[in-house]
Amino acid sequence: MDADWNPQAFHLMTKPRGAICNLDCEYCYFLSKEKLYPNSSFRMADNLLEAYTRQYIEAQHVPEITFGWQGGEPTLMGLEFYQLAVSYQEKYRKPGMQITNALQTNGVTLTDDWCAFFKQYNFLIGLSLDGPRALHDRYRVDKGGQPTFDRVMHGLHLLQKHGVEYNILTTVHAANADHGLEVYRFLRDEVGTEFMQFIPIVERDNLTGFQEGDRVTTRSVTGEQYGQFLIDVFEEWVRHDVGRVFVQIFDVALAAWSGQRPGLCIFEETCGVALALEHNGDVYSCDHFVEPAHRLGNIVDIPLSEIVTSPQQRDFGLAKRDTLPRYCRGCDVRFICNGGCPKNRFIKTPDGEAGLNYLCAGYKAFFHHVDEAMRVMANELAYRRSPANVMLYMRQKDAALQAAFAHAGRNDPCPCGSGLKFKRCHGRTVTG
Ligand code: SF4
Ligand code: SF4
Repeated sequence: MDADWNPQAFHLMTKPRGAICNLDCEYCYFLSKEKLYPNSSFRMADNLLEAYTRQYIEAQHVPEITFGWQGGEPTLMGLEFYQLAVSYQEKYRKPGMQITNALQTNGVTLTDDWCAFFKQYNFLIGLSLDGPRALHDRYRVDKGGQPTFDRVMHGLHLLQKHGVEYNILTTVHAANADHGLEVYRFLRDEVGTEFMQFIPIVERDNLTGFQEGDRVTTRSVTGEQYGQFLIDVFEEWVRHDVGRVFVQIFDVALAAWSGQRPGLCIFEETCGVALALEHNGDVYSCDHFVEPAHRLGNIVDIPLSEIVTSPQQRDFGLAKRDTLPRYCRGCDVRFICNGGCPKNRFIKTPDGEAGLNYLCAGYKAFFHHVDEAMRVMANELAYRRSPANVMLYMRQKDAALQAAFAHAGRNDPCPCGSGLKFKRCHGRTVTG
């Protein structure tokens, strides 16, 4: 085995119902995977569930593991399936091992029974919600093309009523990309969530549904839009919500600025430890590469521990680092970005090298924008103080800027540092 490749733990995104879903979200990358299994019942059999549970636990060499359930829509398996799943987890749990479950749902099928079960077994629920009604309903529709906002909010209220731990997964796409602040305030103030993830929709425009070609659909966000979305959210968060609202990419960035590993596969130097398991036992290199070229084998034939450490998976994981373009290798934010997820590396660098991330412009803009605040927070952490102190720093900085604006002349450089004349920048409303 390559000295670089000896994963002690890995994550498996399990799809017990395959790509089957009750909704028809227009940008979904997984619905087309149904074509990979013609005539399948798309249901994980009970004996396969047991074999998977045993193998997954056996293959892990850490004290805490998570079973990840996704789809399609994983609740379409029915509650009994998950009751069986937790019973198998208890049966095969190693002494002292802590097991948690994370389930990603569109929320439409949730009931009191589901939520009572989630609470009882400490499931962490990821709920998909793209913002206020009009923005959410733009692409998240059911099989009849009908909006889903009210049904998702009903599911959310059930989760809250039962005290289930949940986070909100918001995709950033053409419809909501220019509304970052509105989306953030909605999630914070109306949904009341403390945990958010903002996932960019970069959807290849092709007939296979695989990661091929360099055209994207009109639903996709652009790199610039994604960066600005994150900046708009960050500007609000860093002044009001540090320590009480957790935005995944901000946490990941702070870890990197503090000298730690980002802890999220897309920003790690290598990948390959987040695999996908289909309903029939097939294992793929990653949830975003469920396609024949990246099928590693079936756990009925090959133990999961062998699949994860196989040369094919090692090569997949290390390729993320080894194919990084020169442009990225020389980039000042490589320590956090690492070129981003390989699934989005399909544009050319300015000097014509292939393999640059489609979102590069956005990542660069965002990571540069947050540099100062991240340094302040990382410094607070280093001295065992709260990173939330950055909010005081920002208030003082804002006050100093306001004082500078009051004394700036129309043709002076703007005190904000934009490089524009004051009259063309922050002085516009004052000086006309
Ligand atoms: S391909 Fe992308 S999503 Fe998959 S493991 Fe690698 S970085 Fe993560
Ligand atoms: S910001 Fe762009 S150039 Fe820098 S590492 Fe990320 S993708 Fe590469």
